[in-house]
Amino acid sequence: MTAPATLTVDLDALSHNFHALETLTGVPVHPVVKANAYGLGAIPVARRLMVEGARTFFVARLNEGLELRTALGPTPVIYVLDGCVGDAAPSLRGADLRPVLNHEAQLSAWRSAGGAACGLQIDTGMNRLGFRIEVAPAGFAGLELVMSHLACADDPAEPMNQRQREAFAAVAERYPTALKSFANSGGCFLGPDYGFDAVRPGICLYGGGPEGRPDARLRPVATLSAEVLQVRTVPAGESVGYSRGFVAESDRTIATCGAGYADGILRSHAGSGQVWVAGSLRPLLGRVSMDVVAVDVTGLDITVGDRVEVFGPHRALDDAASAAGTISYELLTSITPRVPRHYTGAASA
Ligand SMILES: *Cc1c(COP(=O)(O)O)cnc(C)c1O
Repeated sequence: MTAPATLTVDLDALSHNFHALETLTGVPVHPVVKANAYGLGAIPVARRLMVEGARTFFVARLNEGLELRTALGPTPVIYVLDGCVGDAAPSLRGADLRPVLNHEAQLSAWRSAGGAACGLQIDTGMNRLGFRIEVAPAGFAGLELVMSHLACADDPAEPMNQRQREAFAAVAERYPTALKSFANSGGCFLGPDYGFDAVRPGICLYGGGPEGRPDARLRPVATLSAEVLQVRTVPAGESVGYSRGFVAESDRTIATCGAGYADGILRSHAGSGQVWVAGSLRPLLGRVSMDVVAVDVTGLDITVGDRVEVFGPHRALDDAASAAGTISYELLTSITPRVPRHYTGAASA
């Protein structure tokens, strides 16, 4: 089945990236599959990663953890980064999910609910989630993981990386029996000191580069393509789309393609966005509409039913993101549920 807008997920490329990160860091990769694996589909992604050897996953929310547990069965360890929020403890325990406890109230809620296995997040300077070092609790039974998160991992030259790493290494010594995890995707590329016992990449598994640029060690995983719904000639002087967003100075051939902002083509793509079509990059013209976008295909041999690539092997996710004034993470997680996900590559378990 094809649909006007389709997200194709190459599970073999996902597996390549998983093993590339293992090789690079020399430690186990604990994939982050929050936000539906950044829009790619948490269940097929996690299933394939289990086949590749992944045994521990991270999600952000309780409901993400519940869905993953149901789909994956009892084997994998699943951490919930939000921690023990509100009255979540019984649900977490019932599904054998491990909260990453972020502050004292979460810790006492988890303990008074009789919670056992859990993680602890230490804030080493990002000031987002986690215990400040001065108030980090002493180790306790059931504490399996101690982690922290880098604020600037996408910028290897930023001195804060090293400061956070040293702070984490020092505080981690207080928890000799817990697994230590520090690096997200960017952190995997900062050097061997950053690996600790296990890394937690998200975006690099899904083909985004660690510094917001394509990286030759990683393969593109996600391809967003759109079908050409109509081809027309726009005579010089006429306009295209809402608000006369583009006015033709010469005769142009326009392909109207079936992907719009209700599919996740952000409106900020207008003006600077490009798609790959018939061997070249072509500009988007005028406004992005809810369901369609106009592409200048002047001089190309394009017919209805052809497909254009918004990002994928020919148009890097990171380049598409910067053209839209955003980052790969937001581009992927903006792809809406109406876009069917297709999976290619070896079958998952
Ligand atoms: C989202 C997240 C990650 C993964 O980050 P990437 O930059 O996508 O690799 C790792 N750790 C924490 C705490 C996160 O919130």
